[in-house]
Amino acid sequence: MSLFEVYPLYDIEIEKGEGSLIWDSKGQEYLDLYGGHAVISIGHSHPYYVQKLVSQIRKIGFYSNSIRIPGQIELSEKLEAISGKKDFKLFLCNSGAEANENALKLASFHNGRKKIIAFKGSFHGRTSLAVAATDNPKIQAPVNENENIIFLPLNDQEALENAFKTHSISSVIIEGIQGVGGIQISKPEFLKKIRSLCDHYGAVYIADSVQCGYGRTGQFFAHDIAGVDADMYTMAKGMGNGFPIAGVWISPKFEARYGMLGTTFGGNHLACAAGIAVLDTFLQENLMENAQELGKYWMNSISHIPGIKEVRGRGLMIGIEFHEKGAEIRNQILHQYKIFTGSSDNKNTVRLLPALNLSKDYADRFTHALKAIMEELNPLKK
Ligand code: PLP
Repeated sequence: MSLFEVYPLYDIEIEKGEGSLIWDSKGQEYLDLYGGHAVISIGHSHPYYVQKLVSQIRKIGFYSNSIRIPGQIELSEKLEAISGKKDFKLFLCNSGAEANENALKLASFHNGRKKIIAFKGSFHGRTSLAVAATDNPKIQAPVNENENIIFLPLNDQEALENAFKTHSISSVIIEGIQGVGGIQISKPEFLKKIRSLCDHYGAVYIADSVQCGYGRTGQFFAHDIAGVDADMYTMAKGMGNGFPIAGVWISPKFEARYGMLGTTFGGNHLACAAGIAVLDTFLQENLMENAQELGKYWMNSISHIPGIKEVRGRGLMIGIEFHEKGAEIRNQILHQYKIFTGSSDNKNTVRLLPALNLSKDYADRFTHALKAIMEELNPLKK
């Protein structure tokens, strides 16, 4: 094999997808409750999405950011309408890490400061500043080590206040719900505190919405639960339903200047077509409402299965924590019941990150499978 092997692989080749179902090269069907890591937001090969991409590439797929690209304007107008963030401006790029890298840079351009507050359990990507703000030394190379990052415990208001008192903070970056960290929820009071301290000290509140965003929790941004606006929202994953597109959604308080940020591929014609198709589908199919209602029902039914330690999350971003054997349970769900789910840094927490138009029947299929597995593991707790 001539690949640089950085991924532990399942011996499965996925060949085809439709909605929440995928098929491998042997014709075996799987239920996809993982969405390739929260990426498939409107379902595999959604007909409207396919039609939008095909008709765009027949005209033109790419031209650089040196010309006007009408899809960028259409996407930003649709984002403003659906997110309710008035007069925010869009900078388009290609991945979640790049979105966070640009947001952290823009904050520092804005207030001229260097220190960044990030949180224990965070994941913000693998580019140099994003990975420095990620709480995982194993993925930081020596060159990424950065004395400007201050890691604090999530939801610890006192530690947050103290950090602001002792350092000149440029920005605070926080996931609305930590994904890789195992579905850990940032409390609304904590997000409000970040807002008020950033206002008081002239720092920038960056809401990493790469995984928890884009309608997944039933609100457009998971951070919206706090009822306060961030200064920037970073977005990727579900934004293009698999087409690489990401963005920074920037409050009007920031002033742009030519050359400040940039990218070759970001915001190209095809990427914008994918982004627009996703937002159109959100509205046409009421996907945020489905995420909210189905999520509530599903979390409730999962939490009644005996032997589970905790069910956390909101909408269709759900973490199931087991007392033990999380990895074995997840493998059994995949190999015996043919259902894809996600792992997390917390080995006993399994993540559910399905497409937002998942049906109740598919949700129930998972619940029944998990119930059977738990009964087998703990026969006395039936
Ligand atoms: N931020 C969060 C919260 C993420 O979960 C991820 C990826 O898992 C990233 C940023 C990085 O995104 P990407 O892999 O597109 O660079």
